[in-house]
Amino acid sequence: MKTYKEIILEQIDFKKFYADYGFTLNSKNHKCCFHDDSNPSLSINEANGLFKCHACDKKGSIFDWYMLHHNVDFKEAIKQIADKYNIELPKSKSNKKQNSEKEELTAELIETCHKNLPEEIRTYLNNRGIPDQLINKYKLGWWNCYGKTWIVIPIKDKNGKHTLLKLRRNPMEENKNDN
Ligand SMILES: [Zn+2]
Repeated sequence: MKTYKEIILEQIDFKKFYADYGFTLNSKNHKCCFHDDSNPSLSINEANGLFKCHACDKKGSIFDWYMLHHNVDFKEAIKQIADKYNIELPKSKSNKKQNSEKEELTAELIETCHKNLPEEIRTYLNNRGIPDQLINKYKLGWWNCYGKTWIVIPIKDKNGKHTLLKLRRNPMEENKNDN
């Protein structure tokens, strides 16, 4: 998938972009707008929109240009440029939002599974050396899926976020199979 930056660079008319700041793009250098320029020292590349001042060393892309002129960050520059030049950017949920939604669902699932942990499994775990204290702390649970029942062991990453649920076969069912 293309980045927002790539989409804008493909669609924007660099001539029009710089014309909005009073620059007519041609092969000549321009008077720099970032320093008090007596000798035109700013070059702007019509093909890729890159600018560079040979005197004050300000340089970059149209996004850098926009950020310098409007005092906004990169994300905001992308948004405002797209708005200004009617460039449609595909809507996508931010990763952060997706992650927090996922985390919420996982937490909910863990709670539900934990509540469903049957007494006999709790006892089984106790007998295997896992006291209630740990069962409650790590929210070991019980889940019915794939046509079987499972002990659910939530695993957290170093940031305390749940990364996965480990499943263990129901020991009672395993015992039945052994017989
Ligand atoms: Zn300059």
